[in-house]
Amino acid sequence: MTLRHIVTVPELVLRRKAKPVTKFDKKLQTLIDDMIETMRDAPGVGLAAPQVNISEQLIVVEYSEEDDDEEDEGAEEKPEKLKKLYVMINPEITKTSEEKVIGVEGCLSIPGIQGEVERFEAIQVKGLNRFGKPQKLKVDGWMARIFQHEIDHLNGVLFTDLAVRLWKFQNEEEHEL
Ligand code: ZN
Repeated sequence: MTLRHIVTVPELVLRRKAKPVTKFDKKLQTLIDDMIETMRDAPGVGLAAPQVNISEQLIVVEYSEEDDDEEDEGAEEKPEKLKKLYVMINPEITKTSEEKVIGVEGCLSIPGIQGEVERFEAIQVKGLNRFGKPQKLKVDGWMARIFQHEIDHLNGVLFTDLAVRLWKFQNEEEHEL
């Protein structure tokens, strides 16, 4: 596995509509493994293919939710960390909750910025797993937020387009110029 370079704004690939994946070949498997490694290394809770300069409809998500007792068919369990890893290809949101919630987001492709974004509290997503097999998920809370953020990337939409409030984020070691 290889770490991929994460592209940042204003790279045009982040604004393009990604193409559906049609070939489930070795090259795709390598890309998926590289994206998982890149997400973990960043570290991040989700990554979309356009963020590694590949304009294809593919996202990876890994997040742990203590109170998440959903039985998700697509989950590949990582028992030692209680994290759920999802690989979703050609994802499509098929249902949304009426309820929306505001939460704070950041993005690996927009360093130094955070913002408040309104998202559906729960969604249903359908798509394909890494081998091209159909999968359907029901997610809520932060998992639903991550999926909406990553699926937006496939449509060239960034969280800064949707945010109701944005601010510069500084951590202790790193100061904004
Ligand atoms: Zn992002």
